[in-house]
Amino acid sequence: MLGLMQDWPLLAHTVIDHAARSHGDREVISRSVEGPIHRTTYREVRRRSLQLAKRLQADGVQMGDRVATMAWNTWRHFESWYGIMGIGAIYHTLNPRLFPEQIAWIMNDAEDRLLFVDLTFVPLMESIAAKVPSLKKVVILTDDAHMPETSLPGAVSYETYLGEADDDFEWLKFDENTAAGMCYTSGTTGDPKGVLYSHRSNVLHGLTTVQPDMLNVRASDRLMPVVPLFHANGWSTAFAVPLVGATMVFPGPAMDGKSIYELLTSERVTITAAVPTVWLMLLQHMEANGGSLPDLSHVVIGGSACPPAMIRTFQEKYDVNVMHAWGMTEMSPVGTVCSLKPEYAELEGDARIAVQSKQGHAPYMVEIKITDDDNEEMPWDGKTFGRLKVRGPTIARAYYKERGADQFDDDGWFDTGDVAHMDRYGYMQITDRSKDVIKSGGEWISSIDIENLAVGHPDVAEAAVIGIAHPKWSERPLLIVVRKEGTTPTKEDVLGFLDGKIAKWWTPDDVVFVEEIPHTATGKIQKVALREQFADYAFP
Ligand code: ADP
Repeated sequence: MLGLMQDWPLLAHTVIDHAARSHGDREVISRSVEGPIHRTTYREVRRRSLQLAKRLQADGVQMGDRVATMAWNTWRHFESWYGIMGIGAIYHTLNPRLFPEQIAWIMNDAEDRLLFVDLTFVPLMESIAAKVPSLKKVVILTDDAHMPETSLPGAVSYETYLGEADDDFEWLKFDENTAAGMCYTSGTTGDPKGVLYSHRSNVLHGLTTVQPDMLNVRASDRLMPVVPLFHANGWSTAFAVPLVGATMVFPGPAMDGKSIYELLTSERVTITAAVPTVWLMLLQHMEANGGSLPDLSHVVIGGSACPPAMIRTFQEKYDVNVMHAWGMTEMSPVGTVCSLKPEYAELEGDARIAVQSKQGHAPYMVEIKITDDDNEEMPWDGKTFGRLKVRGPTIARAYYKERGADQFDDDGWFDTGDVAHMDRYGYMQITDRSKDVIKSGGEWISSIDIENLAVGHPDVAEAAVIGIAHPKWSERPLLIVVRKEGTTPTKEDVLGFLDGKIAKWWTPDDVVFVEEIPHTATGKIQKVALREQFADYAFP
């Protein structure tokens, strides 16, 4: 027997309908690309996204068409997502920090028809557009007064484009599993892979992230996503924030410490989210210029591991709670958030920071497990680590064009490529990437653990550990170190420093000193490049 409840499809644009209806006067505040602070409301955002939907339809944009955006977080970018989704087309966010060839490759792979682009990225797109034959029209996210001279095909200002339609439009109705958005993984290994979000997954994920033990967002909050909408589905903020009717504060193109501090304080932001690098800039700015964050309740930090010292500074110096989070483009993206369950709530001092340095626990709808190489589940004992696998309705079941099929198994588990341990209360801690973990004598050594310890040495600026082939142990760790300027630590100094802090058999077989360590576009250590560089290395 079926239940007798209504079949109300979870369409993502119903989120902006709700925000306009129930929280219509709530503000959406942006630092514009042109400079000034811009203020609008959810009611107005909805009205203009309906207008955009109508205009796109007049241009012949169909269900399933990909419409690219290369833009900062502003009200116009936000509106464009809803306008695109509302006719069943797909917003496709492009990361401007990738190499131009990679961007062209991605646009061709996605066959983007239209592009919405910020003024900042017009020169970049001019160098790419000719290589993307599917691209018919470029809408520049500005008004006529700020339109640049450009060779981009069919270039028109967003305000003029919008003005060519009225807002007398109704969203199209379709299946909730229809594709809504697209985002490519950064492709540090091989070509980038497309992730295709559905309306249903975006709505469900928005609901997931606002929960009290996740981002904990309420209508009375003022949330600033510093994380760009183009990074991993904007961490769901474009859905989560209007869904509860919180005030939205968009930082636009200004992501330096001073500008972020200005908005946090002038707009009385209560919740904010970004990668550790952004917070490093903010803390350095405040260190140099003073200041306080009286309105800020919590800061969400993810994308790469949040250093314990950062947690301590936010909490002890500025009285701002840190929520460490882990996620992936493939997971919509939030996978775990480190809020404190009752089992840990009473912890204080170092013990509390140690728990908060973990990546946290999974919400309902994110199933999580760790396994060995033979897919046997490993215990949740806080020390045994294994491959981290996830499944749930907001996690990819395949990549666009079926790439990377080996990451998905028949029971629906997605292999994240991360290696982690879980403790008895369900707190996950990343110990490595599966390609970077060192397999010595059938046991695993965490390269990240050794790196984190090594950078604790006062003369070490940066450290990376890779596995080097070994006739007896299969692999052994090699520690690669960048010295701090003006210092000359030796191999013995560094290994002596590790002594007693890790198991004897984890101790690197050698230490080499280099001038610099290669990094990816998102600032992560590029182990692939390091492995190539040390391909011919042999232990002494
Ligand atoms: P990009 O590499 O472009 O940032 P993703 O955001 O999808 O793309 O990257 C996801 C990966 O980032 C995860 O698989 C994990 O390795 C890493 N990551 C994300 N959050 C954390 C975190 N809090 N701690 C450690 N690693 C993290």
